Amino acid sequence: MTLYKSRAEPVSDRTRTASLLLLLALSVLACARAEAPGDRVADARPRAHQIAFEDGAESTVWITRQRSELVAPCPESVYQFSADAGSDPEWTRRNLELWDEAGLFGAVEQALRSSRAAMPGAPPDVCVVLAESPSGPVLELMGGIGGATVAPDLVVLYVAPSLNSDILRELPFTIAHEYHHAVTWAQWPTGLDVLLREGRAHHFAWLLYPDVLHPSARALSPDQVDPSWERIRPALESPAREFQDTFMFGGPWFGSVVPRWAGYTIGYCLVRAYADAHPELSPASLAAVPSAEFLARPPDCDAV
Ligand SMILES: [Zn+2]
Repeated sequence: MTLYKSRAEPVSDRTRTASLLLLLALSVLACARAEAPGDRVADARPRAHQIAFEDGAESTVWITRQRSELVAPCPESVYQFSADAGSDPEWTRRNLELWDEAGLFGAVEQALRSSRAAMPGAPPDVCVVLAESPSGPVLELMGGIGGATVAPDLVVLYVAPSLNSDILRELPFTIAHEYHHAVTWAQWPTGLDVLLREGRAHHFAWLLYPDVLHPSARALSPDQVDPSWERIRPALESPAREFQDTFMFGGPWFGSVVPRWAGYTIGYCLVRAYADAHPELSPASLAAVPSAEFLARPPDCDAV
């Protein structure tokens, strides 16, 4: 997201509720109905895509159509943010068709290959959840693409191809963003860490796909940048989870302290400013820079 929620840590009730609202806005507004006879998506086509890399590494991309048919690498937890995914068989069929028509398995594979070429690392598996958006606005705001890195070896994509006519071009950005999380997996205890984790992931994706910028990386108008930064900066040492709700997600669901996704945009702009001043640094080198060093310059959102 994206709300990109990037860590599969044990979540508090508050955080879980917040994530439900903000990642997909599905669970709060819709009740997952029990599967009725005939609801199963009658589709025998294989829904897994194997990727073999030249160095011997492998990953699998798997589409989950509904909770009842989850298989590896998709754990039950992928549905914690999308309780009603798969509840409408017609919707699911349509989006499976769109997924195939757009060639999105190939897009995910190519994005993983490009990401590894730019920043070597173990490729994660990718679990794709065809998430429904009619019950909530967030996935639509995100252009039908949300992501979460839930473990170093597993990325979950929440995708609604029917919500984005340009999804083939835009999906790779999110793959690159989540790949960055996977290969830089670590504990991120403070708000500062979260801000720069997301900023670096967005910047990495932008390096690979400069004509694509996820809505959360350009969430602020020019006159919102400085006021948002003034609010965020004093909170950088606060615990990561509280910071994430208030300042990364932001917006009316979290008290409107800052506009929605302000932290994602500010984080990205901080990394842009730092990277522009250090063009010699590779993505891997940027990932190793201590978070505090990115605060030496104000966020540069002019080019965003
Ligand atoms: Zn992220």
